[in-house]
Amino acid sequence: MTFSKQTSLLHSKHKIDPNTGAVSVPVQHASTFDQPDIEQFGRYDYARSGNPTREALEEIIADLENGSHGFAFASGMAAISTTFMMLSSGDHLVITDDVYGGTFRLTTKVLHRQGIEHTFVDMTDPQAVEEAVQPNTKMIFMETPSNPTMKITPIKQIVDIAKKHGCLTALDNTFMTPVLQRPIDLGVDIVVHSATKFIGGHSDVVAGLAVVNDETLAGEMKFLQNSFGAILGPQDCWLIMRGLKTLHTRMEASSLSAAKLAEWLLEQPEVEHVYYPGLPEHPGYKINQEQSEGAGAVLSFRLHDKEAVRTFVQAVEIPVFAVSLGAVESILSYPPTMSHAAMSDEERDARGITDGILRLSVGLEKTEDIMKDFASAFKQIGVKEEK
Ligand SMILES: *Cc1c(COP(=O)(O)O)cnc(C)c1O
Repeated sequence: MTFSKQTSLLHSKHKIDPNTGAVSVPVQHASTFDQPDIEQFGRYDYARSGNPTREALEEIIADLENGSHGFAFASGMAAISTTFMMLSSGDHLVITDDVYGGTFRLTTKVLHRQGIEHTFVDMTDPQAVEEAVQPNTKMIFMETPSNPTMKITPIKQIVDIAKKHGCLTALDNTFMTPVLQRPIDLGVDIVVHSATKFIGGHSDVVAGLAVVNDETLAGEMKFLQNSFGAILGPQDCWLIMRGLKTLHTRMEASSLSAAKLAEWLLEQPEVEHVYYPGLPEHPGYKINQEQSEGAGAVLSFRLHDKEAVRTFVQAVEIPVFAVSLGAVESILSYPPTMSHAAMSDEERDARGITDGILRLSVGLEKTEDIMKDFASAFKQIGVKEEK
């Protein structure tokens, strides 16, 4: 029988260790494995190439994304870097314009040096994507919802364009997780994650994942994972598997809370704009509804200016003010100096990442407590402005 994602998260094929009956995947720390013969090797030889704890996580994430093969990396950026290693000098990449700051840095400062060209495109506009494709375009890289303005890419339409031009598609699914969005079902070739965020979920591990659904691509990814070597260690694999067990419950509760907060923020006079794809007035609302099972637990909102942001950040008590997202505790961050610090002022302005923008990753606190906390912080802004 096949069950829902909610149930499969708890009853994966690794729920019981066949050797001991343990209801937790054993952490195998060995770096090397004894071999039976000079020519015949066992299932595992050296832990960079294969480790049973990592393999369990890789199989679990592959199943969740409805893919055939999963790969675990030392960070989200390691997963993304390894994916980009499918490209060679002279190739061209089409990439979401308000992509995660680290991916932006990798594209502009590292890939560029390797002779890999790129074009940033507003992926809400398939026509613009079509126009950006060149004869040497080998990959289209999406991130949806985008960060921090929460723009929605019509995944299926971009996949169709890529197929027409014979290029690969990759999608950063960090914000949605396979609980809410399964890009492989929409034809995407490579799904990547910063598992540091919702998948891990507890602000205690840095990790990355990739999933493909094709034997040839899987072989290539396996080769790159082993060659580049940015694998995830066994202890961190275990932490990710533990986090995954509650992923559905966490996503459900946090998304519900985020939706309530987005509506509430709209009514606050200190808030100029709310960016959340679950709001009917969001330009990507309909597309997101069609391609995803929810709007997620991250939203952004804009205050008047940097001073208002400073006052607000100092006044709030509940969220941690930090880089990162997707944890049990709410995380408030300031994209201009945090996730998007790698962009110049002009590059940020062009993407609508203004001085007044704050991003909130909603955790598991009682929604009304966050409202109470924020309402009191908004009053502080008011006080300052009256002076
Ligand atoms: C955090 C993040 C990354 C990078 O992941 P790390 O685990 O920090 O390397 C990539 N994409 C998105 C959308 C992220 O939020």
